[in-house]
Amino acid sequence: MKVGEPERLIIDGKRLDGRAFDELRPIKIEAGVLKRADGSAYLEWGGNKVMAACYGPREVHPRHLARPDSAILRCIYNMAAFSVSDRKRPGPDRRSVEISKVTREALEHVVFTHLFPRTAIDVFIEILQANAGTRCSGITAASVALADAGIPMADLVPACAAGKVGGEIVLDLNDVEDNYGEADLPVAITPKKGEVTLLQMDGNFTREEFEKAFKLAIKGCKKVHKIQKEALRKKYGGT
Ligand code: UDP
Repeated sequence: MKVGEPERLIIDGKRLDGRAFDELRPIKIEAGVLKRADGSAYLEWGGNKVMAACYGPREVHPRHLARPDSAILRCIYNMAAFSVSDRKRPGPDRRSVEISKVTREALEHVVFTHLFPRTAIDVFIEILQANAGTRCSGITAASVALADAGIPMADLVPACAAGKVGGEIVLDLNDVEDNYGEADLPVAITPKKGEVTLLQMDGNFTREEFEKAFKLAIKGCKKVHKIQKEALRKKYGGT
């Protein structure tokens, strides 16, 4: 047993934070919070606090990156030094390069890049406070920021993880569950078409467990989608 590891992660059919197996942590999203960004969103998801800012379509620098037939989408995920209990060394590292890449891939599928040739759409995700599930929080906030910027998109992209903790398949792992659980499965979807634009796995599942966790994560994504739509409705009205 590692230092700080709880004896059990599931007690009397409940998780250590009192949640049911299929329960999300509380989520709040506010669209349009930054004056100088073209679009932005602030998200709180359990202990995660995330700011997403979007700029563009705008001129591409360096120019050789420009594509004649479409916009390029660039995403930068950054974890603030003070966002975690052991100070994070500032600047990019392997993990943030990976998360930036999977975030771009999760989002670029829905953005109508062909409408804006020779331009760039830039998305910055700043993790101000982290408590597991920050890539899902970042993708969820970034897609609201893109919508807030008025970038034409086929859909929003909600994301949510499921995993295996104390032998049970559970939704939306917190940091203790992420650190001491058996597996984590972050997923992002496009709700209208039901496509999966992010699927990663850390740990081990049996095939049956994988299928159960995958279905649960998709259910979570659909709940997150509702909260994204409410945030946009609150700012812009409509149905
Ligand atoms: N974490 C940390 N320090 C780091 C990176 C991560 O304390 O340098 C914590 C943080 O709470 C993060 C969690 O570990 O949310 C899980 O990280 P992971 O790489 O699995 O990505 P995430 O679940 O945040 O998408």
